[in-house]
Amino acid sequence: MKMLSSKDQLVREAASQSLKDAVRKKAGVDPTDDNIFAYLSGSLPVPRSGGGVAGSVWSNVRAACLRLNKKFPVSWSRCSGTGMIKITIGHISSRSTTTITQSSRAYLFRQLKSAMSDYYLERISAKPDQGKTAAPVSLHPASSAFIADGSFTRFCDWRFIHRARLGVLPLNGTRRFGNQVRKCRRCGFVVESIPHVINHCTSHSASWNLRHNEIQDRIVRAIPSRSGTVTVNRRVPDTTLPLRPDIVVRRPDGSLLIIDVTVPFEDRVEALVKARRIKINKYQPLVDELATKGITASVDAIIVGALGSWDTCNDYVLGQLGVSRKYATMMRKIICARTIGHSRNIYVSHITGSPQSM
Ligand SMILES: [Zn+2]
Repeated sequence: MKMLSSKDQLVREAASQSLKDAVRKKAGVDPTDDNIFAYLSGSLPVPRSGGGVAGSVWSNVRAACLRLNKKFPVSWSRCSGTGMIKITIGHISSRSTTTITQSSRAYLFRQLKSAMSDYYLERISAKPDQGKTAAPVSLHPASSAFIADGSFTRFCDWRFIHRARLGVLPLNGTRRFGNQVRKCRRCGFVVESIPHVINHCTSHSASWNLRHNEIQDRIVRAIPSRSGTVTVNRRVPDTTLPLRPDIVVRRPDGSLLIIDVTVPFEDRVEALVKARRIKINKYQPLVDELATKGITASVDAIIVGALGSWDTCNDYVLGQLGVSRKYATMMRKIICARTIGHSRNIYVSHITGSPQSM
C-alpha cells in the first residue's frame, strides 16, 4: 500500500510496474485493475507452479491476504470516485466493514489488529464453556489490564485467574469424564462448579462480604467531598422501607444518589445486565417514596464480575459520583485485580479448608 501510493513518483511507478509484471507472469493474465486487485486479494487463481517465476513482495502480499481471509474478509480494490487504492476489512463480531484508502493508510495496522482480535474473541465466545466469561471479560480493558504487566496481582492470583476464566479449575463439577462424585465438598450441592464455589456456596459468605466491602470502600474513598455527603450501609432518612443501600450520596442540591455494589458471576454479558436490573428494581421503591416527599433520587449499581469483569455501565455511575477520569482509570484496575484476589482466596479456602488472607 505504501509503495503503490508513495509520494515519490519513481517509487510509485516502479512498484506499479513490478506488480503488473508479477500478475502477468504469475497468473498469466493481463494486468488490468480488476486482475491486479483480485491477485492481491487472493481471489485470482494462480497456477501451482506460479508461472515458473520466483516469488516477490507481491506474492507475499497475496499470501498474507489469503491467510487473513481464512479469519476475516480482506480485499483490495479501487475507489470508484477518487481512484484511490483501498483495502476493505470485515469485522466478524460487529458484522461491519472498514475501508482503508491510501490517504488513511496509517490506520491499516490498527484496523487489521482490531479485526484479528474480533475474530479470536468471537471464536472463544462461541465455545460453550470458555465462552461464558470471555465476552464479559472483554467488555472493558480494565478487566484484563493485569495481563500485560501483572499490576496489583499476586502470583497466586495469576495462577488462579486464567484457569478460572477458562472454566478448567480442578473441582468435582468440572471433570469432563468418568462417574466420580460431582457434589460440593463443603455444602453437598449437586455440582461443585466454579460459579458455585466463588458465588453461591454459603460456607464462604464471610469472604463474599470482604470482596464486596473492598469494592464499596474503594468507591466511597474515590467520591470527592464536593459531590456531597456519603453514607454507607444505612437506611435512607425520611423513608419507611427497611432497605439499606450500600452507598447514598446526598448532593449539595438535596437530591440523592443511591448506589449498590454487587459481584455476580460473569456467566455471559447477560449476567451483568441482570445483576444491575435486579439492584435497580430493588431500590426503585425508595426512589418512588422519596419522590412523594419532593426529594429527587436516582438509583444505580456498581457491577464487578467475580472473575474481575468491569461492567462498562459502571463508568457512567463513577461520573455521576464525581470521580475524576484519571482516578477512575487506576481504581478500576485495582478493583478488578483485588476482586480476582478475593475470588482466588475463596477458591483456595474451599479446596484446602484453611482461611486465606489478602
Ligand atoms: Zn457448596
